Amino acid sequence: MPDKADERVSIGQTALSQFNHAAEVMKLDEEFRVLLSIPFREVRVEVPLRKDDGSLVVYQGYRVQFNGARGPFKGGIRYHPHVDMDEVTGLAALMAWKTALIDIPFGGGKGGVNVDPRDHTIYEIERLTRKFISRIGRVLGPYRDIPAPDMNTNAQVMAWIMDEYSSRQGFSLAAVTGKPLALGGSAGREAATGRGVVFCFAEVARLEGWDVAGMSAAIQGFGNVGSYAALFLSELGVRVAAISDVSGAYYSKKGVDIQKALDHVAASGGLEGFTGADKITNEELLALDVDVLVPAALGGVINRKTAHDMKARILLEAANAPVTSIGEKILDEKDVYVIPDVLANAGGVTVSYFEWVQNIQQFDWEEKRVNDELKKIMTRATQEVHTLAKDKKIAMRTAAFIIAIERVAMAEKLRGI
Ligand code: NAD
Repeated sequence: MPDKADERVSIGQTALSQFNHAAEVMKLDEEFRVLLSIPFREVRVEVPLRKDDGSLVVYQGYRVQFNGARGPFKGGIRYHPHVDMDEVTGLAALMAWKTALIDIPFGGGKGGVNVDPRDHTIYEIERLTRKFISRIGRVLGPYRDIPAPDMNTNAQVMAWIMDEYSSRQGFSLAAVTGKPLALGGSAGREAATGRGVVFCFAEVARLEGWDVAGMSAAIQGFGNVGSYAALFLSELGVRVAAISDVSGAYYSKKGVDIQKALDHVAASGGLEGFTGADKITNEELLALDVDVLVPAALGGVINRKTAHDMKARILLEAANAPVTSIGEKILDEKDVYVIPDVLANAGGVTVSYFEWVQNIQQFDWEEKRVNDELKKIMTRATQEVHTLAKDKKIAMRTAAFIIAIERVAMAEKLRGI
């Protein structure tokens, strides 16, 4: 959790200051600077939910469409008590830069509801999802805005979104991605973000000449992204010394058996009670003496305090906006090698794009094709960012933003204001 001094640094401000820094370095035209720092559309809706016991709770739902110059808005839907307009706007901006960076024909959006799903039954989550979609549905659509999973939403939630949208607009598989395989989902989508994180890391390691087989890692978050990142990192030969989730962190000097941890989660729903490692706190995990730290849970976890305490030399950003602006300055002073979120975690939206393509063409790809195409896109984007960063002697995040901003600005210019 952010410490007091950092608490005011929101994800919205973090994304904006990252944009401003890149705009400064690339000397972006002032008109574009204004145009590309303001969201296209913000929607806020009331989401009332009748609980199973008959009582009523009312949540706030958000959908922000940040920039759609290069294609339909694209971005996940998150269920978390911290969700607010600022967070959703910041995450929507990051999606706009991410889709441009990996050069897929989408813009950037994001949505969410300020609900803690642990307070609700699955029936309540289904009703909440349907109510939310019924209220933002008019700004969604296969060529308008396409949601996907994010924190605390999964393939089942996407299936309800598809059904609710289709009940009004007619059968529309391409209206949402991250769906179950049995309902228009893509092979490889579930593992795509974690797989992409590791494709990106492997390519940076190759370019830098690192020997990954001798490296160690600690991973915060063992949900969709963190668990697959852990699995693929360990397959690469990296010793995953610690993993964590909301129940706490689990450490083993000789490396956690990731398959064992996955089996435990499959059987019990979380890492609570996992006996394959020693229990430590999430703060201790962030300060472990490992080569690579992989935040794969919430934003803002690397802040003034945790950045100071961090010993890892490489930060592989699987989560969105895991570093606050103050945290970033400290990492810079400590010369930590940061592989930024807009690049590292782009595998999810890449395979979402493949899913959308398959839905529109009504033609399914085999998993090998999905993974091969994902590897191509992640490797190419990683090389582009790495080359620009080396040439201009700038951080990889700044390089990634410059490439993305140039593409979005070009699309805006060609379309005309
Ligand atoms: P998820 O809900 O599947 O998993 C989140 C994990 O974080 C869970 O294990 C949860 O227990 C853990 N967690 C929550 N609070 C924590 C805390 N305080 N300390 C330690 N662990 C905590 O979510 P996800 O889809 O894996 O998303 C994780 C991150 O990756 C988010 O930042 C999300 O925006 C980003 N992301 C997700 C995707 C995707 O395709 N799902 C794509 C790109 C980026």
